[in-house]
Amino acid sequence: MTDPIVQIQDVHKSFGVLEVLKGISFDVSVGEVVCLLGPSGSGKTTLVRCINHLETINEGRILVDGEMMGYREKGDQLKELSVKKIAEQRQRTGMVFQRFNLFPHMTALENVCCGPVRVQNRPRREVETEAMEYLSRVGLASKATNYPGQLSGGQQQRVAIARALAMKPKVLLFDEPTSALDPETVGEVLEVMKSVAKAGMTMVVVTHEMGFAREVADRVIMMDRGVVIESATSEEFFNAPKNERTRAFLRGIA
Ligand code: ADP
Repeated sequence: MTDPIVQIQDVHKSFGVLEVLKGISFDVSVGEVVCLLGPSGSGKTTLVRCINHLETINEGRILVDGEMMGYREKGDQLKELSVKKIAEQRQRTGMVFQRFNLFPHMTALENVCCGPVRVQNRPRREVETEAMEYLSRVGLASKATNYPGQLSGGQQQRVAIARALAMKPKVLLFDEPTSALDPETVGEVLEVMKSVAKAGMTMVVVTHEMGFAREVADRVIMMDRGVVIESATSEEFFNAPKNERTRAFLRGIA
């Protein structure tokens, strides 16, 4: 077993009086693909947003590459890090959102180059060469000069994946990356995600795509009402789920 790259330790998160994460713990190993499944509202999106510190947490801790995300110890308390330090940490945890979030006024190539040039201060020429390679990997080298508005949803999401990869993150987080797409473009995005997984990227994926989870995930984590109710290899999970609520969930979407 390799060292964990992500460690989630007893994480609690509330929005006002609503506790949406009620003590979540699991590790993700280097190169592992973990799919988070579960009914709508069970806290999956909130959890991946916490990994990236897009949400603060109320209790527990999240470590990425051995370093606590978003906080530092101060006595027996945790203190939130500076915006600059958090931005630096986020480079390790690339995120692909449901709604692509590309910059509409930039071409596909500029979208991919933006982070490495502006945040990582790398030389533009070198970054552009690399960005073209990432666009090729997602099958979109020929669309490099297109603006997001000139691309289909599936193509935009593939640019978003290239953009996340260009930052050379330690782990890629996906928050329902295909649920805002037209059905005919879902497959092309899943194919790209599959190839990224095959290339060895560590991935945490919130998804409703059971075929993807079954085929690509090393491990499936089932959440319900803010807790993990089952964590298993994808084979065990789909062939012999142990938890009754997991069985009901799988029946419901079958
Ligand atoms: P899932 O991804 O499993 O569908 P979410 O993490 O999106 O679940 O949501 C979990 C719960 O937290 C839901 O009840 C949702 O309404 C609530 N929630 C999510 N984000 C916020 C927010 N920013 N403010 C208040 N409630 C929120």
